[in-house]
Amino acid sequence: MAREDAEVSALVQARFNQEGVDVKVNHTAKQFVIENGEKILLAEHDGQTVRIAFDQVLVAIGRAANVQGYGVEELGIALSPRKTLDTNPFQQTNYPNIYAVGDVAGPYQFTHTAAYQAWYAAVNALFGQFKKFRTDYSVIPWSTFVDPEVARVGLNEQDAQAQGIAYEVSTYGIDDLDRAIADGEAHGFVKVLTVPGKDKILGVTIVGEHAGDLLAEFVLAMKHGLGLNKILGTIHTYPTLAEANKYAAGVWKRNHAPQRVLTWLGRYHAWRRGT
Ligand SMILES: Cc1cc2nc3c(=O)[nH]c(=O)nc-3n(C[C@H](O)[C@H](O)[C@H](O)COP(=O)(O)OP(=O)(O)OC[C@H]3O[C@@H](n4cnc5c(N)ncnc54)[C@H](O)[C@@H]3O)c2cc1C
Repeated sequence: MAREDAEVSALVQARFNQEGVDVKVNHTAKQFVIENGEKILLAEHDGQTVRIAFDQVLVAIGRAANVQGYGVEELGIALSPRKTLDTNPFQQTNYPNIYAVGDVAGPYQFTHTAAYQAWYAAVNALFGQFKKFRTDYSVIPWSTFVDPEVARVGLNEQDAQAQGIAYEVSTYGIDDLDRAIADGEAHGFVKVLTVPGKDKILGVTIVGEHAGDLLAEFVLAMKHGLGLNKILGTIHTYPTLAEANKYAAGVWKRNHAPQRVLTWLGRYHAWRRGT
């Protein structure tokens, strides 16, 4: 899970290990051999050859857009450097009357981005001579459906660092959440990155049960410019997993509590109590 922050991958790996899955990272598959009827993968790790016996192999190393054999070459439809059909923000190829959406166009390879682009392609094809609509990829969520589920929208820490973007982190541990405890699923976290000193969400990573569903509140907030104060001021049903979002907003709020005012209030109430 190279695109996620290190602690996200560590949590998932810890769970895999608990379940008896032997996760071998930094192993390069070199060769499959059959020796004395036994199937063996020869892999390289730290300069050494490692032998891994197996029953079945499932190769899941990603996929490439199909851009050959159905007229793309003959028409001369331009390809992007990533070997997808090159499209502009209106989903048009270099032929303005030929549109492309989904995996074949990229830049994302998700069902929800394909559906999103499809609306723009259809509406622009039908009404483009009057008004054209541009796709906007500023808020794209996704989930990795492992257990515990991993969900993300916007920046994580490694993205922010790579792009030199300053951020603050507010993390709420789902092990504290009543519903997660009642469900026997008290693990994971909600991690929110915000602009330092501002109530502006840069990105959110959630690890835990139904993380992808929990994320929707933050996707809405980011899309419509709502901050953590708005999430904190929204009543969430007790006991639900969704309360984790509110508590994460609460962590941010506590980190920004006006200490001088609180000190003054402390003195005021001490005075009222006569102490
Ligand atoms: C194992 C796996 C798990 C995934 N899980 C998720 C997930 O959880 N969430 C998510 O959002 N996305 C997921 N995806 C990605 C998602 O499936 C794709 O992003 C989505 O299907 C893209 O839709 P599409 O219409 O662009 O392409 P496709 O769904 O691939 O549709 C393209 C169609 O075109 C057909 N076709 C290709 N060439 C020709 C031709 N020459 N003539 C006629 N027909 C042709 C194909 O047969 C296919 O039916 C997953 C993908 C894989 C492989």
